Amino acid sequence: MQELIQKIEALEKVSEVLEPSEKERTEYHQQILEFANNFINTIDERNSFKEIKHAIQGLEINENKNSLEKIIQLYNEKVIPNGINPAGGGHIGYIPGGGLYTSAIADYIADVSNEYAGMFYGSPGAVTIENETIEWLKKVFNFPKTTIGNLTSGGSIANLIALTSARDKFKIKGNKIEKSVIYLSEQVHHCIHKAIRIIGLEDIIIRYISLDENYKINTAELKEKINQDIQNGLEPFMVVASAGTTDTGAVDPLKEIGNIANNNNLWYHIDGAYGGFFILCKNKKELFEGIEMADSLVVDPHKGLFLPYGTGAVLIKDKKAVMHSHHYTANYMQDAYGENLPVNPADVSPELTKHFRGLRLWLPLQIHGLKPFVACLEEKILLTEYFRKRLLEIGFCVGPTPDLSVSYFWYPTKENNQDEFNEKLMKLIHKDGRIFLSSSTINHQFVIRIAILSFRTKKKTIDKAIEMIEDCLIQLKKEIKILN
Ligand SMILES: *Cc1c(COP(=O)(O)O)cnc(C)c1O
Repeated sequence: MQELIQKIEALEKVSEVLEPSEKERTEYHQQILEFANNFINTIDERNSFKEIKHAIQGLEINENKNSLEKIIQLYNEKVIPNGINPAGGGHIGYIPGGGLYTSAIADYIADVSNEYAGMFYGSPGAVTIENETIEWLKKVFNFPKTTIGNLTSGGSIANLIALTSARDKFKIKGNKIEKSVIYLSEQVHHCIHKAIRIIGLEDIIIRYISLDENYKINTAELKEKINQDIQNGLEPFMVVASAGTTDTGAVDPLKEIGNIANNNNLWYHIDGAYGGFFILCKNKKELFEGIEMADSLVVDPHKGLFLPYGTGAVLIKDKKAVMHSHHYTANYMQDAYGENLPVNPADVSPELTKHFRGLRLWLPLQIHGLKPFVACLEEKILLTEYFRKRLLEIGFCVGPTPDLSVSYFWYPTKENNQDEFNEKLMKLIHKDGRIFLSSSTINHQFVIRIAILSFRTKKKTIDKAIEMIEDCLIQLKKEIKILN
């Protein structure tokens, strides 16, 4: 016994450093605070993009001790300056995320207290906060009280949960797979295709519905294809609409598609990962009419509510369908299931243990109230308009008036080299890096895309982008002249 106690005490001595003293904690905090202040205070001075084409050296784990000071230094050298600066307002490529500071505070509280947000039994408070965020989302999107929801790591997993529920509701398995049809447009996010494969529906029939001149699903064609499929003995199963496509930000005609889904008894899924929260903008509400008709809806608070990466959300009306695959109980969980307990996040998701995500959404809404979020979304729409106007002024062509805050542009050339010219311009813009933009191919044409969704993107960011684009344009024209 004595020997055992001595061994334990010896190990305790070594392991106790895992609990830093109050003095050490305070020192850590000062260093972290300094890091955060420095990071945020200089965010506009730093470049938005630096392309790196090799693995980053010097980040190996060598299993020895290191000081926080050194580690922060390493982070500042190796992580911060490379690639896209995703917390900065100059990130207007792809679909930007956020980096809301009050979410970071919430993460800190969640991590220190380590609340178990998977099961109500473990942390009724944390799970209630998770569930209250879902309640709030139901209100925002006009979903019925009985809707089930979950906060996920992002839109991809949220879509996966929704599609799994659709599959289970319609019992798409065995030889039913090859007869069932999913309707979607070429513009759906690629995570829908990933989800279809992951849930074993690779062999399902996918019907692509073409887009109208505003890049929205052509509903007449949707109807026609469904009818054709029924006539041919196939089984229309699901239609996927986008509330804000990735390429052009277009919101599909949600209500019309909803009616078609209703009339044909289809599962109606809407991916609003990018655009969903624009429903909060008064003058955009109309665009989202019909969103409440969806059987399942995905939104991404780490996009439209400016949270740091790591929070998507899904709402699903059919509780049984969600539970079929996601709820499973084991013997060792027998204490956790009481009669009328609130929904456990773990019963609505493939995850059991999870980060307490609810707090990083709940806390910012509590601290700031909703108003600044709405103002910020409205600001993004106007900034997109402003950007497009400025681009037209300096000789660029722009895509059609966007529904939301994604658009695109290109420089028209007289010769037959327009794509090549714009590709070169894109390369120069990436090399410059002051502002980060991305490219896409729309109607077989190379275009430069803008996606404004960072809460830190301001008018001065757009002015800087225009300055950069003009500089790059001048440089490219010079280079071409020299070559000719
Ligand atoms: C970003 C996005 C997704 C994927 O979401 P993640 O959070 O990146 O997993 C899905 N659909 C749309 C429309 C998106 O914009």
